[in-house]
Amino acid sequence: MLKIAVFPGSFDPFTKGHENVISRALPLFDKILIAIGHNSEKRSFFSLEKRLAMIGKLYQDEPRIEVTFYEGLTVDYCRQVKAQYLLRGLRTAADFEYERAIAQINRKMNPEVETVFILAVPEFTPVNSTIIREILKYGGDASQFLPDKMIIGD
Ligand code: ADP
Repeated sequence: MLKIAVFPGSFDPFTKGHENVISRALPLFDKILIAIGHNSEKRSFFSLEKRLAMIGKLYQDEPRIEVTFYEGLTVDYCRQVKAQYLLRGLRTAADFEYERAIAQINRKMNPEVETVFILAVPEFTPVNSTIIREILKYGGDASQFLPDKMIIGD
């Protein structure tokens, strides 16, 4: 059976930290779905279409990575796409506490999905989409925190 992992997130924007998690997780799974959790009532900095396009382009030559989106519960989406693994990244103790609760609740809701954590590398631990959005909002250069091949803008 193919090992399928869903990597859910806002990815607003997708950073070098996310890219690092994907590259280290790729040898563990047959397929990874980078799944943008979409909430039509919440405003994002980059539109859903833009995020799909930016991340999709980044992985256009990697057939084992698919870029998708979903609305609703992540565990329901995992069931829908037959993913047995949920991939998340951990940077700090705060991330751990937050992720621990979600992973334990998700497990209660769907015991067939195992959450797998990848620990951030030290150089990307401070890389966080919220801070990058602030830099971009005020016209700063955030390129060192974004994947080298990712194209921001149109
Ligand atoms: P969410 O809104 O679901 O937290 P994010 O796009 O912020 O979505 O993050 C998606 C996942 O990537 C989360 O598990 C987060 O902890 C992880 N992540 C974010 N930045 C990094 C980083 N620099 N290194 C490793 N993991 C990261």
